[in-house]
Amino acid sequence: MTSINELRKHVRAPVVTPDDSDYDTARAVWNGMIDRRPAAVVQAERVDDVIAAVNFARDNGLPLAVRGGGHSAPGYGTIDNGLVIDLSPMGSIEVDADARTARVGGGATLADLNEATHAHGLATPGGIVSTTGVGGLTLGGGIGYLTRGFGLSIDNLRSADVVTADGQLRHASESENPDLFWALRGGSGNFGVVTTFEFDLHPVDQVVVGLFFYELEHAGDLLRFFRTWITDADERYGAFPAFQVAPPLPFLPEDRHGDTFCAAIVHWSGPVEEGQAAMQPFRDLAPRVGEMVEPMPYTWLNGAFDDLFPRGVRSYWKGNYVTELTDEAIDAHLAHGPKAPNASSTMHLYPINGAASRVGATDTAFSYRHATFSTVIVSAWADASEDAANTAWVRDYAAALTPHSEAGGYVNFMSDDDLGRVTDTYGSNYARLMKVKQTYDPGNLFSHNQNIAP
Ligand code: FAD
Repeated sequence: MTSINELRKHVRAPVVTPDDSDYDTARAVWNGMIDRRPAAVVQAERVDDVIAAVNFARDNGLPLAVRGGGHSAPGYGTIDNGLVIDLSPMGSIEVDADARTARVGGGATLADLNEATHAHGLATPGGIVSTTGVGGLTLGGGIGYLTRGFGLSIDNLRSADVVTADGQLRHASESENPDLFWALRGGSGNFGVVTTFEFDLHPVDQVVVGLFFYELEHAGDLLRFFRTWITDADERYGAFPAFQVAPPLPFLPEDRHGDTFCAAIVHWSGPVEEGQAAMQPFRDLAPRVGEMVEPMPYTWLNGAFDDLFPRGVRSYWKGNYVTELTDEAIDAHLAHGPKAPNASSTMHLYPINGAASRVGATDTAFSYRHATFSTVIVSAWADASEDAANTAWVRDYAAALTPHSEAGGYVNFMSDDDLGRVTDTYGSNYARLMKVKQTYDPGNLFSHNQNIAP
Protein backbone atom coordinates (compact mmCIF):
# COMPACT_ATOMS: atom_id res chain seq x y z
CA MET A 1 0.00 0.00 0.00
CA THR A 2 2.92 2.32 0.75
CA SER A 3 4.07 1.98 -2.80
CA ILE A 4 0.57 2.69 -4.19
CA ASN A 5 0.54 5.85 -2.09
CA GLU A 6 3.82 6.68 -3.80
CA LEU A 7 2.09 6.22 -7.16
CA ARG A 8 -0.59 8.70 -6.10
CA LYS A 9 2.12 11.34 -5.82
CA HIS A 10 2.94 10.89 -9.50
CA VAL A 11 -0.46 10.68 -11.16
CA ARG A 12 -3.10 13.34 -10.99
CA ALA A 13 -5.82 10.91 -12.15
CA PRO A 14 -7.87 8.80 -9.69
CA VAL A 15 -6.03 5.71 -8.38
CA VAL A 16 -8.62 3.19 -7.17
CA THR A 17 -7.51 0.56 -4.63
CA PRO A 18 -9.33 -2.24 -2.74
CA ASP A 19 -10.23 0.19 0.05
CA ASP A 20 -12.23 2.42 -2.27
CA SER A 21 -16.00 2.09 -2.63
CA ASP A 22 -15.78 2.06 -6.43
CA TYR A 23 -13.12 -0.69 -6.50
CA ASP A 24 -15.48 -3.40 -7.77
CA THR A 25 -16.64 -1.21 -10.64
CA ALA A 26 -13.08 -0.14 -11.45
CA ARG A 27 -11.69 -3.68 -11.60
CA ALA A 28 -14.53 -5.14 -13.70
CA VAL A 29 -14.28 -5.73 -17.43
CA TRP A 30 -16.88 -6.64 -20.05
CA ASN A 31 -16.63 -10.43 -19.54
CA GLY A 32 -18.42 -11.25 -16.28
CA MET A 33 -16.42 -14.49 -15.91
CA ILE A 34 -13.29 -12.45 -15.17
CA ASP A 35 -12.95 -11.74 -11.45
CA ARG A 36 -9.47 -10.32 -10.86
CA ARG A 37 -8.29 -8.12 -8.01
CA PRO A 38 -5.67 -5.56 -9.06
CA ALA A 39 -3.57 -3.72 -6.48
CA ALA A 40 -4.67 -0.45 -8.11
CA VAL A 41 -6.50 0.91 -11.12
CA VAL A 42 -5.19 4.17 -12.57
CA GLN A 43 -8.07 5.88 -14.37
CA ALA A 44 -5.74 7.73 -16.70
CA GLU A 45 -6.89 11.13 -17.90
CA ARG A 46 -3.83 12.33 -19.76
CA VAL A 47 -0.58 11.10 -21.27
CA ASP A 48 1.35 12.07 -18.11
CA ASP A 49 -0.76 9.64 -16.06
CA VAL A 50 0.06 6.86 -18.48
CA ILE A 51 3.78 7.63 -18.38
CA ALA A 52 3.80 7.72 -14.57
CA ALA A 53 1.87 4.45 -14.31
CA VAL A 54 4.12 2.67 -16.83
CA ASN A 55 7.25 3.85 -15.01
CA PHE A 56 5.78 2.87 -11.66
CA ALA A 57 4.79 -0.65 -12.74
CA ARG A 58 8.19 -1.22 -14.37
CA ASP A 59 10.26 0.14 -11.48
CA ASN A 60 8.28 -1.75 -8.84
CA GLY A 61 8.03 -5.03 -10.73
CA LEU A 62 4.24 -4.86 -10.71
CA PRO A 63 2.29 -6.90 -13.28
CA LEU A 64 0.62 -4.48 -15.68
CA ALA A 65 -2.70 -4.57 -17.55
CA VAL A 66 -3.78 -1.94 -20.06
CA ARG A 67 -7.49 -1.42 -20.68
CA GLY A 68 -9.06 0.30 -23.65
CA GLY A 69 -12.72 -0.67 -23.98
CA GLY A 70 -12.33 -3.70 -21.68
CA HIS A 71 -13.84 -6.11 -24.24
CA SER A 72 -11.05 -8.65 -24.41
CA ALA A 73 -12.76 -12.02 -23.88
CA PRO A 74 -9.86 -13.38 -21.75
CA GLY A 75 -10.03 -10.17 -19.68
CA TYR A 76 -6.64 -8.69 -20.49
CA GLY A 77 -7.90 -5.34 -19.22
CA THR A 78 -7.60 -6.39 -15.58
CA ILE A 79 -5.06 -8.35 -13.54
CA ASP A 80 -4.55 -9.92 -10.12
CA ASN A 81 -2.23 -8.05 -7.73
CA GLY A 82 -0.96 -5.68 -10.38
CA LEU A 83 -1.57 -2.27 -11.83
CA VAL A 84 -4.32 -1.54 -14.34
CA ILE A 85 -4.07 1.47 -16.63
CA ASP A 86 -7.69 2.17 -17.53
CA LEU A 87 -7.74 4.46 -20.57
CA SER A 88 -11.51 4.91 -20.68
CA PRO A 89 -11.34 8.56 -19.54
CA MET A 90 -9.10 9.22 -22.56
CA GLY A 91 -11.80 8.82 -25.20
CA SER A 92 -11.78 12.17 -26.94
CA ILE A 93 -12.19 12.34 -30.74
CA GLU A 94 -11.05 15.17 -32.99
CA VAL A 95 -12.29 15.01 -36.57
CA ASP A 96 -10.66 16.99 -39.37
CA ALA A 97 -13.42 16.71 -41.95
CA ASP A 98 -11.43 18.46 -44.69
CA ALA A 99 -8.40 16.21 -44.29
CA ARG A 100 -10.71 13.22 -43.64
CA THR A 101 -8.80 12.15 -40.57
CA ALA A 102 -9.65 11.58 -36.91
CA ARG A 103 -7.45 11.67 -33.82
CA VAL A 104 -8.85 9.18 -31.35
CA GLY A 105 -8.02 8.78 -27.67
CA GLY A 106 -6.66 5.36 -26.64
CA GLY A 107 -9.71 4.65 -24.48
CA ALA A 108 -12.44 5.59 -26.98
CA THR A 109 -15.17 3.14 -27.92
CA LEU A 110 -16.37 2.53 -31.45
CA ALA A 111 -19.55 4.41 -30.51
CA ASP A 112 -17.47 7.47 -29.57
CA LEU A 113 -15.58 7.27 -32.85
CA ASN A 114 -18.54 6.55 -35.12
CA GLU A 115 -20.74 9.25 -33.64
CA ALA A 116 -18.03 11.87 -34.05
CA THR A 117 -17.21 10.95 -37.63
CA HIS A 118 -20.84 10.39 -38.64
CA ALA A 119 -21.54 14.04 -37.91
CA HIS A 120 -19.42 14.70 -41.04
CA GLY A 121 -20.77 11.82 -43.13
CA LEU A 122 -17.50 9.96 -42.61
CA ALA A 123 -16.41 6.65 -41.06
CA THR A 124 -13.44 4.34 -40.71
CA PRO A 125 -13.58 0.54 -40.51
CA GLY A 126 -14.40 -0.78 -37.03
CA GLY A 127 -16.32 -3.72 -35.59
CA ILE A 128 -19.93 -4.75 -35.20
CA VAL A 129 -20.59 -3.85 -31.53
CA SER A 130 -20.35 -0.18 -30.60
CA THR A 131 -19.18 -0.66 -27.01
CA THR A 132 -15.93 -2.33 -28.16
CA GLY A 133 -12.76 -0.34 -27.56
CA VAL A 134 -11.03 1.25 -30.54
CA GLY A 135 -7.73 0.41 -28.77
CA GLY A 136 -7.79 -3.36 -28.54
CA LEU A 137 -9.79 -3.77 -31.73
CA THR A 138 -7.36 -1.71 -33.80
CA LEU A 139 -4.17 -3.12 -32.33
CA GLY A 140 -5.35 -6.65 -33.21
CA GLY A 141 -6.41 -5.67 -36.75
CA GLY A 142 -10.04 -4.53 -36.71
CA ILE A 143 -12.60 -6.47 -38.75
CA GLY A 144 -16.05 -5.10 -39.54
CA TYR A 145 -18.64 -4.07 -42.12
CA LEU A 146 -16.25 -1.78 -44.01
CA THR A 147 -13.32 -4.23 -44.20
CA ARG A 148 -13.93 -5.30 -47.78
CA GLY A 149 -14.30 -1.73 -48.96
CA PHE A 150 -11.61 0.06 -46.98
CA GLY A 151 -9.51 -2.64 -45.32
CA LEU A 152 -8.93 -3.50 -41.69
CA SER A 153 -8.86 -0.75 -39.07
CA ILE A 154 -5.05 -0.94 -39.13
CA ASP A 155 -5.03 -0.33 -42.87
CA ASN A 156 -6.55 3.06 -42.11
CA LEU A 157 -4.19 3.93 -39.27
CA ARG A 158 -1.94 6.85 -40.21
CA SER A 159 -0.05 7.13 -36.96
CA ALA A 160 -0.13 6.43 -33.23
CA ASP A 161 1.27 8.07 -30.12
CA VAL A 162 2.64 5.35 -27.88
CA VAL A 163 4.08 5.24 -24.36
CA THR A 164 6.63 2.45 -24.54
CA ALA A 165 8.01 0.38 -21.65
CA ASP A 166 10.80 2.88 -20.98
CA GLY A 167 8.19 5.56 -20.27
CA GLN A 168 8.91 7.49 -23.49
CA LEU A 169 6.09 8.92 -25.59
CA ARG A 170 6.86 8.05 -29.20
CA HIS A 171 5.16 8.92 -32.44
CA ALA A 172 4.85 5.92 -34.76
CA SER A 173 4.05 6.23 -38.45
CA GLU A 174 5.45 5.08 -41.80
CA SER A 175 8.21 7.69 -41.43
CA GLU A 176 8.81 7.80 -37.65
CA ASN A 177 9.62 4.64 -35.69
CA PRO A 178 8.36 2.60 -38.67
CA ASP A 179 9.22 -0.74 -37.05
CA LEU A 180 7.03 0.12 -34.06
CA PHE A 181 4.26 1.32 -36.40
CA TRP A 182 4.48 -1.97 -38.30
CA ALA A 183 4.20 -4.02 -35.10
CA LEU A 184 1.32 -1.99 -33.70
CA ARG A 185 -0.75 -2.86 -36.75
CA GLY A 186 -1.84 -6.34 -35.66
CA GLY A 187 0.62 -7.07 -32.84
CA SER A 188 -2.03 -6.31 -30.20
CA GLY A 189 -1.10 -4.68 -26.87
CA ASN A 190 2.48 -5.97 -26.86
CA PHE A 191 4.38 -2.79 -27.67
CA GLY A 192 3.15 -0.01 -25.43
CA VAL A 193 0.15 2.08 -24.47
CA VAL A 194 -1.36 3.91 -27.42
CA THR A 195 -2.67 7.23 -26.17
CA THR A 196 -3.81 8.51 -29.59
CA PHE A 197 -4.67 6.79 -32.86
CA GLU A 198 -4.90 8.78 -36.09
CA PHE A 199 -7.19 7.28 -38.74
CA ASP A 200 -8.13 7.98 -42.33
CA LEU A 201 -11.87 8.49 -42.84
CA HIS A 202 -14.11 7.71 -45.79
CA PRO A 203 -17.48 8.99 -46.98
CA VAL A 204 -19.97 6.57 -45.34
CA ASP A 205 -23.25 7.99 -44.12
CA GLN A 206 -26.58 6.23 -44.70
CA VAL A 207 -26.18 2.53 -45.44
CA VAL A 208 -28.72 -0.12 -46.35
CA VAL A 209 -28.97 -3.05 -43.98
CA GLY A 210 -30.56 -6.41 -44.69
CA LEU A 211 -31.25 -9.03 -42.04
CA PHE A 212 -32.45 -12.33 -43.49
CA PHE A 213 -33.55 -15.31 -41.41
CA TYR A 214 -33.83 -18.72 -43.08
CA GLU A 215 -34.92 -22.15 -41.80
CA LEU A 216 -31.96 -24.28 -40.71
CA GLU A 217 -32.55 -26.65 -43.63
CA HIS A 218 -31.19 -23.83 -45.85
CA ALA A 219 -27.99 -23.31 -43.86
CA GLY A 220 -25.97 -25.34 -46.37
CA ASP A 221 -27.44 -23.32 -49.26
CA LEU A 222 -26.55 -20.09 -47.49
CA LEU A 223 -22.96 -21.09 -46.76
CA ARG A 224 -22.38 -22.49 -50.26
CA PHE A 225 -23.88 -19.36 -51.83
CA PHE A 226 -21.80 -17.14 -49.60
CA ARG A 227 -18.42 -18.79 -50.33
CA THR A 228 -18.86 -18.21 -54.06
CA TRP A 229 -20.65 -14.87 -53.98
CA ILE A 230 -18.18 -13.20 -51.61
CA THR A 231 -15.14 -13.91 -53.80
CA ASP A 232 -16.02 -11.12 -56.23
CA ALA A 233 -18.99 -9.34 -54.65
CA ASP A 234 -19.01 -5.56 -54.94
CA GLU A 235 -16.75 -4.22 -52.19
CA ARG A 236 -19.49 -1.95 -50.93
CA TYR A 237 -20.99 -5.09 -49.38
CA GLY A 238 -19.98 -6.07 -45.87
CA ALA A 239 -21.93 -9.25 -45.16
CA PHE A 240 -21.66 -12.37 -43.08
CA PRO A 241 -23.63 -15.56 -42.49
CA ALA A 242 -24.50 -16.63 -38.95
CA PHE A 243 -26.41 -19.08 -36.82
CA GLN A 244 -28.82 -17.22 -34.61
CA VAL A 245 -31.42 -18.04 -31.96
CA ALA A 246 -34.18 -15.55 -32.81
CA PRO A 247 -34.42 -12.58 -30.46
CA PRO A 248 -37.89 -10.97 -30.25
CA LEU A 249 -37.46 -8.97 -33.45
CA PRO A 250 -40.62 -7.41 -34.88
CA PHE A 251 -40.06 -8.79 -38.39
CA LEU A 252 -39.95 -12.40 -37.16
CA PRO A 253 -43.17 -14.32 -36.41
CA GLU A 254 -43.82 -14.13 -32.66
CA ASP A 255 -44.25 -17.88 -32.36
CA ARG A 256 -40.74 -18.36 -33.81
CA HIS A 257 -38.93 -16.17 -31.25
CA GLY A 258 -36.42 -18.42 -29.52
CA ASP A 259 -36.11 -20.82 -32.47
CA THR A 260 -32.73 -21.27 -34.13
CA PHE A 261 -32.18 -20.09 -37.70
CA CYS A 262 -29.38 -19.40 -40.09
CA ALA A 263 -29.13 -15.75 -40.99
CA ALA A 264 -27.40 -13.33 -43.32
CA ILE A 265 -26.44 -9.89 -42.07
CA VAL A 266 -25.85 -7.68 -45.10
CA HIS A 267 -24.55 -4.13 -45.22
CA TRP A 268 -24.53 -2.08 -48.41
CA SER A 269 -22.65 1.20 -48.39
CA GLY A 270 -23.35 2.11 -52.03
CA PRO A 271 -26.16 4.47 -53.10
CA VAL A 272 -29.20 3.99 -50.88
CA GLU A 273 -31.52 3.77 -53.89
CA GLU A 274 -29.60 0.69 -55.04
CA GLY A 275 -30.06 -1.00 -51.67
CA GLN A 276 -33.14 -3.07 -52.49
CA ALA A 277 -31.52 -4.44 -55.64
CA ALA A 278 -28.32 -5.12 -53.69
CA MET A 279 -30.27 -7.35 -51.30
CA GLN A 280 -31.90 -9.42 -54.04
CA PRO A 281 -29.32 -12.26 -54.04
CA PHE A 282 -30.21 -12.95 -50.40
CA ARG A 283 -33.90 -13.18 -51.30
CA ASP A 284 -33.26 -15.45 -54.24
CA LEU A 285 -31.18 -18.01 -52.40
CA ALA A 286 -33.93 -19.44 -50.18
CA PRO A 287 -37.35 -18.58 -48.69
CA ARG A 288 -37.08 -16.29 -45.65
CA VAL A 289 -38.85 -16.81 -42.34
CA GLY A 290 -38.49 -13.06 -41.82
CA GLU A 291 -36.44 -10.21 -43.21
CA MET A 292 -35.75 -6.55 -42.69
CA VAL A 293 -34.24 -4.27 -45.31
CA GLU A 294 -33.85 -0.63 -44.38
CA PRO A 295 -31.64 2.38 -44.94
CA MET A 296 -30.14 3.62 -41.70
CA PRO A 297 -27.22 5.66 -40.39
CA TYR A 298 -24.00 3.67 -40.17
CA THR A 299 -23.88 4.48 -36.45
CA TRP A 300 -27.20 2.70 -35.93
CA LEU A 301 -25.96 -0.43 -37.61
CA ASN A 302 -22.87 -0.32 -35.43
CA GLY A 303 -25.03 -0.51 -32.31
CA ALA A 304 -27.54 -3.05 -33.62
CA PHE A 305 -26.05 -6.04 -31.77
CA ASP A 306 -25.12 -4.22 -28.55
CA ASP A 307 -28.05 -5.54 -26.52
CA LEU A 308 -27.02 -9.15 -27.16
CA PHE A 309 -23.60 -8.47 -25.57
CA PRO A 310 -24.14 -6.28 -22.48
CA ARG A 311 -21.35 -5.45 -20.08
CA GLY A 312 -20.99 -8.08 -17.36
CA VAL A 313 -22.30 -10.98 -19.43
CA ARG A 314 -20.26 -14.20 -19.12
CA SER A 315 -18.52 -15.15 -22.34
CA TYR A 316 -16.16 -17.48 -24.16
CA TRP A 317 -14.67 -17.14 -27.67
CA LYS A 318 -12.69 -18.99 -30.34
CA GLY A 319 -11.60 -18.00 -33.83
CA ASN A 320 -9.91 -19.33 -36.96
CA TYR A 321 -8.89 -17.99 -40.32
CA VAL A 322 -10.33 -19.79 -43.33
CA THR A 323 -8.91 -19.64 -46.83
CA GLU A 324 -11.33 -22.01 -48.51
CA LEU A 325 -14.73 -22.86 -47.06
CA THR A 326 -14.78 -26.52 -48.07
CA ASP A 327 -17.79 -28.85 -48.17
CA GLU A 328 -16.32 -30.60 -45.11
CA ALA A 329 -16.15 -27.28 -43.25
CA ILE A 330 -19.77 -26.59 -44.16
CA ASP A 331 -20.72 -30.03 -42.81
CA ALA A 332 -19.03 -29.11 -39.51
CA HIS A 333 -20.99 -25.84 -39.41
CA LEU A 334 -24.24 -27.70 -40.05
CA ALA A 335 -23.47 -30.11 -37.23
CA HIS A 336 -22.65 -27.48 -34.60
CA GLY A 337 -24.21 -24.12 -35.55
CA PRO A 338 -27.81 -25.25 -34.96
CA LYS A 339 -26.90 -26.22 -31.37
CA ALA A 340 -26.27 -22.57 -30.37
CA PRO A 341 -27.39 -22.45 -26.73
CA ASN A 342 -29.00 -18.98 -26.68
CA ALA A 343 -29.56 -15.72 -28.58
CA SER A 344 -26.12 -14.43 -27.60
CA SER A 345 -24.36 -17.54 -28.92
CA THR A 346 -23.38 -17.31 -32.52
CA MET A 347 -20.98 -18.13 -35.29
CA HIS A 348 -20.10 -15.27 -37.62
CA LEU A 349 -18.07 -15.85 -40.75
CA TYR A 350 -16.54 -12.45 -41.50
CA PRO A 351 -15.09 -11.94 -44.97
CA ILE A 352 -11.64 -10.36 -44.97
CA ASN A 353 -11.12 -10.23 -48.72
CA GLY A 354 -11.43 -7.12 -50.88
CA ALA A 355 -9.35 -4.14 -49.75
CA ALA A 356 -7.96 -6.04 -46.74
CA SER A 357 -6.46 -8.68 -49.01
CA ARG A 358 -4.68 -6.11 -51.18
CA VAL A 359 -2.30 -5.25 -48.34
CA GLY A 360 0.79 -7.46 -48.36
CA ALA A 361 1.20 -10.18 -45.72
CA THR A 362 4.40 -8.55 -44.43
CA ASP A 363 3.30 -4.92 -44.79
CA THR A 364 1.75 -5.00 -41.30
CA ALA A 365 1.99 -7.50 -38.45
CA PHE A 366 -1.41 -8.95 -39.48
CA SER A 367 -0.19 -11.83 -41.59
CA TYR A 368 -3.28 -13.70 -42.83
CA ARG A 369 -3.96 -11.45 -45.82
CA HIS A 370 -4.59 -14.46 -48.02
CA ALA A 371 -7.44 -15.77 -45.84
CA THR A 372 -10.98 -15.26 -47.11
CA PHE A 373 -12.75 -15.40 -43.76
CA SER A 374 -12.21 -14.90 -40.07
CA THR A 375 -14.56 -17.19 -38.16
CA VAL A 376 -15.68 -16.33 -34.65
CA ILE A 377 -17.62 -18.66 -32.41
CA VAL A 378 -18.85 -16.84 -29.34
CA SER A 379 -21.22 -17.59 -26.54
CA ALA A 380 -22.48 -15.13 -23.94
CA TRP A 381 -24.81 -16.01 -21.06
CA ALA A 382 -25.91 -14.65 -17.72
CA ASP A 383 -25.83 -17.52 -15.24
CA ALA A 384 -22.66 -19.21 -13.93
CA SER A 385 -24.49 -22.54 -13.84
CA GLU A 386 -24.43 -22.42 -17.67
CA ASP A 387 -20.65 -21.93 -17.96
CA ALA A 388 -19.86 -25.54 -18.81
CA ALA A 389 -22.55 -25.95 -21.48
CA ASN A 390 -21.70 -22.70 -23.23
CA THR A 391 -17.93 -23.16 -23.24
CA ALA A 392 -18.38 -26.75 -24.43
CA TRP A 393 -20.50 -25.58 -27.39
CA VAL A 394 -17.80 -23.09 -28.43
CA ARG A 395 -14.94 -25.57 -27.92
CA ASP A 396 -16.63 -28.46 -29.74
CA TYR A 397 -17.65 -26.26 -32.66
CA ALA A 398 -14.14 -24.78 -32.97
CA ALA A 399 -12.53 -28.23 -32.73
CA ALA A 400 -14.74 -29.49 -35.55
CA LEU A 401 -13.64 -26.57 -37.76
CA THR A 402 -9.93 -26.84 -36.94
CA PRO A 403 -9.08 -29.43 -39.61
CA HIS A 404 -10.72 -27.19 -42.23
CA SER A 405 -9.14 -23.90 -41.09
CA GLU A 406 -5.74 -22.22 -41.06
CA ALA A 407 -3.53 -22.83 -38.02
CA GLY A 408 -3.81 -19.21 -36.93
CA GLY A 409 -6.82 -17.21 -35.86
CA TYR A 410 -7.61 -13.53 -35.36
CA VAL A 411 -5.82 -12.48 -32.19
CA ASN A 412 -8.88 -10.56 -30.98
CA PHE A 413 -11.08 -13.67 -31.06
CA MET A 414 -8.66 -15.78 -28.99
CA SER A 415 -9.18 -17.07 -25.47
CA ASP A 416 -6.58 -17.65 -22.77
CA ASP A 417 -6.28 -21.29 -23.75
CA ASP A 418 -5.18 -20.16 -27.23
CA LEU A 419 -1.89 -18.66 -26.05
CA GLY A 420 -0.04 -21.55 -27.69
CA ARG A 421 -1.37 -20.39 -31.07
CA VAL A 422 0.29 -16.96 -31.09
CA THR A 423 3.14 -18.08 -33.33
CA ASP A 424 0.65 -19.57 -35.80
CA THR A 425 -1.41 -16.39 -35.73
CA TYR A 426 1.56 -14.28 -36.82
CA GLY A 427 3.20 -16.89 -39.04
CA SER A 428 6.27 -15.57 -40.81
CA ASN A 429 5.81 -12.15 -39.14
CA TYR A 430 6.48 -13.60 -35.70
CA ALA A 431 10.29 -13.37 -35.91
CA ARG A 432 10.12 -9.66 -36.83
CA LEU A 433 7.59 -9.03 -34.05
CA MET A 434 10.03 -10.58 -31.57
CA LYS A 435 12.78 -8.25 -32.77
CA VAL A 436 10.56 -5.18 -32.37
CA LYS A 437 9.54 -6.45 -28.93
CA GLN A 438 13.23 -6.77 -27.98
CA THR A 439 13.75 -3.15 -28.98
CA TYR A 440 10.75 -1.57 -27.29
CA ASP A 441 9.84 -3.94 -24.46
CA PRO A 442 12.83 -6.18 -23.66
CA GLY A 443 11.54 -6.84 -20.13
CA ASN A 444 8.08 -7.87 -21.39
CA LEU A 445 6.26 -5.29 -19.28
CA PHE A 446 3.32 -5.58 -21.66
CA SER A 447 2.79 -9.31 -21.23
CA HIS A 448 -0.86 -9.54 -20.17
CA ASN A 449 -2.09 -10.21 -23.71
CA GLN A 450 -1.64 -12.77 -26.50
CA ASN A 451 2.02 -12.41 -25.73
CA ILE A 452 4.94 -12.05 -28.09
CA ALA A 453 7.81 -12.93 -25.79
CA PRO A 454 10.99 -10.89 -26.35
P1 FAD B 1 -9.42 -4.39 -23.81
O1 FAD B 1 -9.81 -5.58 -23.03
O2 FAD B 1 -9.43 -3.07 -23.14
O3 FAD B 1 -8.02 -4.58 -24.50
C1 FAD B 1 -7.72 -5.69 -25.29
C2 FAD B 1 -6.22 -5.79 -25.49
O4 FAD B 1 -5.75 -4.63 -26.15
C3 FAD B 1 -5.45 -5.86 -24.17
O5 FAD B 1 -4.31 -6.65 -24.34
C4 FAD B 1 -5.09 -4.41 -23.93
O6 FAD B 1 -3.95 -4.30 -23.14
C5 FAD B 1 -4.87 -3.89 -25.32
N1 FAD B 1 -5.22 -2.48 -25.45
C6 FAD B 1 -6.45 -1.92 -25.52
N2 FAD B 1 -6.35 -0.60 -25.72
C7 FAD B 1 -5.04 -0.32 -25.79
C8 FAD B 1 -4.31 0.88 -26.00
N3 FAD B 1 -4.91 2.05 -26.21
N4 FAD B 1 -2.95 0.78 -26.03
C9 FAD B 1 -2.32 -0.40 -25.84
N5 FAD B 1 -2.97 -1.55 -25.64
C10 FAD B 1 -4.31 -1.50 -25.62
N6 FAD B 1 -13.25 -7.48 -33.06
C11 FAD B 1 -13.30 -7.13 -34.37
O7 FAD B 1 -12.27 -6.96 -35.00
N7 FAD B 1 -14.49 -6.95 -34.99
C12 FAD B 1 -15.67 -7.09 -34.36
O8 FAD B 1 -16.72 -6.91 -34.95
C13 FAD B 1 -15.65 -7.42 -32.98
N8 FAD B 1 -16.80 -7.54 -32.27
C14 FAD B 1 -16.75 -7.76 -30.92
C15 FAD B 1 -17.93 -7.78 -30.19
C16 FAD B 1 -17.90 -7.99 -28.81
C17 FAD B 1 -19.18 -8.00 -28.03
C18 FAD B 1 -16.66 -8.20 -28.16
C19 FAD B 1 -16.62 -8.49 -26.69
C20 FAD B 1 -15.49 -8.19 -28.89
C21 FAD B 1 -15.52 -7.97 -30.28
N9 FAD B 1 -14.36 -7.96 -31.04
C22 FAD B 1 -14.40 -7.62 -32.37
C23 FAD B 1 -13.09 -8.34 -30.45
C24 FAD B 1 -12.37 -7.11 -29.98
O9 FAD B 1 -11.67 -6.54 -31.05
C25 FAD B 1 -11.37 -7.49 -28.87
O10 FAD B 1 -12.05 -7.99 -27.77
C26 FAD B 1 -10.52 -6.29 -28.49
O11 FAD B 1 -9.44 -6.75 -27.75
C27 FAD B 1 -11.33 -5.30 -27.68
O12 FAD B 1 -10.60 -4.15 -27.45
P2 FAD B 1 -10.87 -3.33 -26.11
O13 FAD B 1 -10.02 -2.14 -26.15
O14 FAD B 1 -12.33 -3.17 -25.92
O15 FAD B 1 -10.41 -4.40 -25.05
